[in-house]
Amino acid sequence: MLNYLYLFFVGTFIGSYFSSLVFSNKKPIISKRRSSCQSCNNKLQSWMLIPVFSYLALSGKCHYCKEDISMAYPLLELITGSSFVLLSLNYTYDLNQIFILSIMALFIASSFSDQKNLEISDTLIYSTLTFGLIYMLLNFNIDLIYGFLTGGLFFEIQRYISKGKWVGQADAYFAATIGCIMGFKLTLLTIFLSYWLATIFVTPKLLSRSINMKSKLPFIPFLTLSFFLVNFFYDIIVINLNYI
Ligand SMILES: [Zn+2]
Repeated sequence: MLNYLYLFFVGTFIGSYFSSLVFSNKKPIISKRRSSCQSCNNKLQSWMLIPVFSYLALSGKCHYCKEDISMAYPLLELITGSSFVLLSLNYTYDLNQIFILSIMALFIASSFSDQKNLEISDTLIYSTLTFGLIYMLLNFNIDLIYGFLTGGLFFEIQRYISKGKWVGQADAYFAATIGCIMGFKLTLLTIFLSYWLATIFVTPKLLSRSINMKSKLPFIPFLTLSFFLVNFFYDIIVINLNYI
């Protein structure tokens, strides 16, 4: 139990760190933490930087200028913390697990960025792929290379055919990262599931005409949710359903 509490806090702190990359108005710098109010520029004290807790203690407003703090901050922190706990329920701690959690945190931060700006910083994209490639090297087998190629090429070919209209470069990098970890068949499943999730999300919006077929939609959140679900239900998919 204490382990899970610890994992939750680690997750929220990592989420909080990434939120400074995602929501900062300034150019993101990897070593810079969110340390001042973006509205009034007052320096934040350390108790105002505790993930989730600070947001609640401040009732969602800046201590100095009373400007609303975006809900996205505590949400990113909560989701990252919760995913760390949920993905660790069935696993013992080892190096692989640390890589998977790190990649999950990068995916979640990238989802928020994609949702907010329809773009993801190079820092996030390349960090994610680097973690994936190191994981692949540490667990080297041919299936992971197939996964890497499948994930990357699936989106890269679409990007080439559509001249970048259907999917973005980030989609290819993130799917390649998934491939490095999941191997060929689970990568196909993850991509397939992400399209289903996107369809379920988009159909009501299309029907209510709040978006149309030409609207640009962030796809990384669906890849992220799918990656989470396949990892979370890994035992059921692989052992019970005998997939792979
Ligand atoms: Zn302020």
